[in-house]
Amino acid sequence: MPLTQEPSDRWAWVEIDLNAVRKNTRAIKGLLKRGTRLMCAVKADGYGHGAVECARAMRSAGADQFAVATVAEGVELRRAGVERPILMLSQAPKGAIDTLVEYDIMPSVHTSEFALSYGERAAAAGKVGSYHLAIDTGMTRIGVLPEDVVEFRRAIDFHRGLRCAGTFTHFATADAIQDWDFKLQARRFLDVVGALHDAGCSVGLVHCDNTPGTILHPELHHDMCRVGIGLYGLHPAETTAPRVSLTPAMSVRARVTRAINPAVGEGVSYGLTYRVPTPHIQIATIPLGYADGLSRTLSGRMDVLVHGRRARQVGNICMDQCMFAVDTNPVRSYHRATPVAEGDLVTIMGEDGDERISADEMADLRGTITYEVTCNFGARLERVYV
Ligand SMILES: *Cc1c(COP(=O)(O)O)cnc(C)c1O
Repeated sequence: MPLTQEPSDRWAWVEIDLNAVRKNTRAIKGLLKRGTRLMCAVKADGYGHGAVECARAMRSAGADQFAVATVAEGVELRRAGVERPILMLSQAPKGAIDTLVEYDIMPSVHTSEFALSYGERAAAAGKVGSYHLAIDTGMTRIGVLPEDVVEFRRAIDFHRGLRCAGTFTHFATADAIQDWDFKLQARRFLDVVGALHDAGCSVGLVHCDNTPGTILHPELHHDMCRVGIGLYGLHPAETTAPRVSLTPAMSVRARVTRAINPAVGEGVSYGLTYRVPTPHIQIATIPLGYADGLSRTLSGRMDVLVHGRRARQVGNICMDQCMFAVDTNPVRSYHRATPVAEGDLVTIMGEDGDERISADEMADLRGTITYEVTCNFGARLERVYV
C-alpha cells in the first residue's frame, strides 16, 4: 500500500494514483495510430479523480485535447493553466456564450440559433468561434439528425465568426462486440461525414470512439478518440479487459474512529437492522457514509478491508459514518481476525495486502456502473495524490 499524505482533519479520504493515470493514458494512446489525437474526458471532476490534477497527468502522458460536461468545468481547467483545446460535450445555455468565448471552450453544437449567437459573440470579441458539430446517429441524446446535417450547415456556414473544428457522434452500445445497433450508428456517421464532404463543408476532426469504442473498434478511430473511464484505470466492459492492461487510479480509505465489543443482541445503526450474533464480535466505526459516495443501498452487503482481510459492513450506512464487524472469536473462526483499534487503516475501495475491493465489485453490488461509483466518491471526500 502506498504511503499517503492523508488529510489532517478527517479520517476518510480518496487516494489518487497519478502514475496510474499517466500509465493508462500512455496505454490508450498506444492503441492509436500515429497522428490520431487523444481527447481525454475529465468531466465530473475527472470522474471524481480531480479534473485539474488528472488533466496535467494526462497531458504529460500524451493527451491532445480535453472534454468537459459544463462551462464551469472548462473554466476550471483554463484557470489552472490548461492550454490544450477543450470541448464541452453538449451545447451551453446562450447566457454562457461569452464565457465560452472568453475562455476558448468549444461547445458542441446542434441548434442553429445557438451556433449563430456563438458566432456573433466570438466575432464581436475579435475571435473565431470554434465548435464541434454533434450528430445524433441513434443515441437520441444530443446532436443534429443525419438527414438534417447538410441543411444545418448551410444555415450557419455563412457566418464568418464560426469554425467547425470537429464533427462527432456518440455510441450507445460501443461495448458490445458484434452489435447491429452499433454498426448502424457507425454507418450513419460515415454517411454524414461523406455527405458533408460532398457538400463542400469542412468537418474538422472526425471522432466517435469512447473508451470501449477505442479499445474494440480501432477501425473507427478516425482523427481522434474521446476517452474517459479507461484513463482512470477502469474497464467499461468485460470485453475490453483482455485488450489493454489498465491500473485503477482511485482508492478510498478511512481510519477506525471507534471499536468496541458490544454484548450479544445489541443492535447497530439506524433501525438496528443488524444485531450482534455471537460473542467476540467487534463493531468498528469509520467516518464515511452515503454523503461521501458510499451508497446506502450497500448497507450490510459490502465488505471493507482491514489488516489485509475482508470484514463485513453491518447496519445501515449513515450519512457520514458506517460500521463494520470483525469476528475475533478464537474458537469459531478458523481465520481469526486481529482485533481492530482506533486509528487502524480501512480500505473501502482499493488494495490492502493481497486483498482488493474493486470499483467493479462496488458497482455490481449497487446495480450500477463504475463511472457512478468513482463520481460519487469524488463528491465530498478530500483527495490525496500519490
Ligand atoms: C463521457 C463521454 C465520453 C467518454 O466516455 P468513456 O466511456 O468514459 O470513455 C466520450 N464522449 C462523450 C460524448 C461522452 O459524454
